Amino acid sequence: MNLLKKLVIACVIIFSSLSVSSANSAQLKSIEIFNVSSLQNDYFINMAKYAEEQMASLAANTIVIVYPIGRFLTGENPKNNSTSFRGASHEVVLTETQVNKINLRVSNFLQKASCLSAKDKKRISMDIDWWLRNGGASQLQDPICKKNRLVMISIDPDRKRDKRDLSRVFFHELYHSFQHDLNDNCRGPNDLWVIEAGAEYFAQHSIAAYGGKPENFINDLLKFVLWHARMLGTKLKDPGVAEKGLGALRLMIQKGWLDESRILNGSFFHKCARVEEFKNSNPHVQYIKKNWHKIEKVNGAYTFNLPK
Ligand SMILES: [Zn+2]
Repeated sequence: MNLLKKLVIACVIIFSSLSVSSANSAQLKSIEIFNVSSLQNDYFINMAKYAEEQMASLAANTIVIVYPIGRFLTGENPKNNSTSFRGASHEVVLTETQVNKINLRVSNFLQKASCLSAKDKKRISMDIDWWLRNGGASQLQDPICKKNRLVMISIDPDRKRDKRDLSRVFFHELYHSFQHDLNDNCRGPNDLWVIEAGAEYFAQHSIAAYGGKPENFINDLLKFVLWHARMLGTKLKDPGVAEKGLGALRLMIQKGWLDESRILNGSFFHKCARVEEFKNSNPHVQYIKKNWHKIEKVNGAYTFNLPK
């Protein structure tokens, strides 16, 4: 599952502002946001509320920890990292009080995670504490139990400026917490790209729709996919597996082989449906794996250019 949890995604989308109205956490059904960054709680709560409302059903309780980090130091993990987390190293700006507050919230949340032993709870708490105290950057969702999910998002000075990218990251990680089957005992050869691309599809759709520009969604998506195919190659694997997989999911939808609403309402990730449907023996899956990157710009608009 480690492969699926921690992904650093390059992003080339241009900033646009998102609508914000007053909100509080009590309006959320399944998500608890603990934000110790200087960004407004409303910003995160409104996005979480929108995301929850899109889902066909909510199976897990999720804690989202949003915390500030300072200047970028290196792309490597913080020195002597023995946690399960992976990410860049930044200057530490959290205060002792803030770290302790986060630890307390995490500890309270983990108390309710009945799938974990006391030892596992302690390990997760200690890992988070270490990661925060050592300037680790995060954009991750950890499916710690089927019904208890952890999301961590760090806010560095660049991310603080680029709200659109931050929204994309937020929607992406939150969507992982809505993917019911991450803890189910079902595995297939296309898991990584389908899980990652599902989250990215929802994120891209959300920033277009929630940001008030749904008409830009497909064109922006195809442009984004083509850029990643050119920069990172045409194999559906990392780096950029989420962005490349977007093209494959979009092609599947465009061909009429997958109902888009099943991605957007999360039901494609219920009861291992996607593993059953996305087997390599499925000729549609073979087709999209071969053709997802065949995109071109015609008269200013991006479109698939598929073999006849
Ligand atoms: Zn992801």
